[in-house]
Amino acid sequence: MKARIQPVKIVECDKCGKEFSIKVKVKKLGKGIEQSYFKCPKCKAKYEVARTNSNTRRLQKELNRLQLEYNKKPSEKGYKKISKKREELRKEMLKLNERLG
Ligand SMILES: [Zn+2]
Repeated sequence: MKARIQPVKIVECDKCGKEFSIKVKVKKLGKGIEQSYFKCPKCKAKYEVARTNSNTRRLQKELNRLQLEYNKKPSEKGYKKISKKREELRKEMLKLNERLG
């Protein structure tokens, strides 16, 4: 089993120049939309990471499942499925960010 621990990411704040490690938080924006973001501990500048809704989360899950299957048993069919799903997810993310931004 693979551990899902991500390496600590250090970033520099655009506003005040402070270096800090990212702690991503999730905020519910309503209508099933969740925003992940992190804040600078010094000046409280907010940086958005991504927005997701139930659609993108479902597609992401399906994509993960297809990728697991593909890792176990690579095939051209599996690869095509992954590409298709990835494109679907990308479009959905674009739509989501357009509507909100
Ligand atoms: Zn800052």
